[in-house]
Amino acid sequence: MDVELTETQALVQRTARDFATRVVAPRAAESDATAELPAETFRGLAELGLLAINVPPELGGSGAGAVAYALAMQEIARACASTAVMMSVTNMVGEVIARFGTDAQKHRFCPALASGEAVLGSFALSEPDAGSDPGALRTTARRDGGGWVLDGAKQWITGGTRAGVFVVWARTSPPATGSRGISCFLVEGGAPGLKAGRPEDKMGIRASDTVPLRLEGCRVPADALLGDENAGFKVAMTALDGGRIGIASQAIGISRAALEESARYAKDRRTFGVPIAEHQAIMWKLADMQTQIDAAHLLTLRAAWRKESGKPFTREASMAKVFASEAAVRACNEAVQIHGGYGYTREFAAERHLRDARVTTIYEGTSEIQRMVIARAVLEG
Ligand SMILES: Cc1cc2nc3c(=O)[nH]c(=O)nc-3n(C[C@H](O)[C@H](O)[C@H](O)COP(=O)(O)OP(=O)(O)OC[C@H]3O[C@@H](n4cnc5c(N)ncnc54)[C@H](O)[C@@H]3O)c2cc1C
Repeated sequence: MDVELTETQALVQRTARDFATRVVAPRAAESDATAELPAETFRGLAELGLLAINVPPELGGSGAGAVAYALAMQEIARACASTAVMMSVTNMVGEVIARFGTDAQKHRFCPALASGEAVLGSFALSEPDAGSDPGALRTTARRDGGGWVLDGAKQWITGGTRAGVFVVWARTSPPATGSRGISCFLVEGGAPGLKAGRPEDKMGIRASDTVPLRLEGCRVPADALLGDENAGFKVAMTALDGGRIGIASQAIGISRAALEESARYAKDRRTFGVPIAEHQAIMWKLADMQTQIDAAHLLTLRAAWRKESGKPFTREASMAKVFASEAAVRACNEAVQIHGGYGYTREFAAERHLRDARVTTIYEGTSEIQRMVIARAVLEG
């Protein structure tokens, strides 16, 4: 693995950093307070090619690769974790269509996602009773005339109030159980029978909408099937491997913001006649935060590099995700501690970072599920 960035990777990183600093960061606290993200943020991400970083240029994407995607996610998350999660899901949806779609599906949906015409993409796998165990999903799709009719309930769908394209998993062979008999469909936002419920009132990433979805007699054409019939579980698992690199990167971005603000505060705030940065207890916290962020970054780069090189990366993506997300929770908790009482108020961003970091150990597979994936790989040798 090359730890030096290529010109393209460095360019994507700089572009994302500049946009994050100028446009995204100044609005992050307000977006958290109002639980809303300005539409121009998404237009800006689209204009800079950040909504389809790993989608080939002939489909409207940047084609910059998985490493560039990880770097860009870190920069956007450092500014605003809510913006980053919407960016991550949209990239994931574009990539899954580019990988598994027919030519017609690719040319119809990828350019729309990349350009922002579709606004966002949503990934509708989880259900009220199927999160860690997606093989328990109950949404059904039955053939009807020339197309399909989808019925069921999805839960926790990021971007569900405004996405133009939903990737929806449904059971197409109801007698089959578990991971068998599941297929994947492309459903356009506003399709009759697709309804988004009220956004969840969340602890963190408050400006990203997370909604339940109802599919009631939702009719889609025959060509809405993505990938082969009854082979949708593999599509989901492949997408989630890549998604975990995105969430690891989001966690690193949040941790970086927490560390930078902690270091600044520690140099400013004085107790016992000296800046708190001179107390060894505070120095050790900063040192541990930086070391764990770097370790998370290297694990994530390795997973991204393997993905980009066409090597297996399931285990590496899970290792990056579990480590980066748990390190982020620790780092953000320490950031609140370093800020003392002020860290417990909305006057400083430390409390927002802690609330935002918390979900990274839950979505895209909980820490427990990542450890299962890693342990299985260890035991298989
Ligand atoms: C803000 C947010 C956004 C989300 N966005 C999306 C989205 O866009 N699309 C989507 O499809 N989903 C999304 N999700 C869903 C997310 O992926 C699930 O919440 C997650 O996979 C956990 O599922 P669950 O909530 O049903 O918890 P459960 O599966 O009920 O798990 C509960 C607890 O049991 C543990 N557990 C479960 N099984 C095992 C086991 N075998 N061994 C040990 N421990 C176990 C879990 O780790 C967890 O601690 C989102 C969730 C949140 C909170």
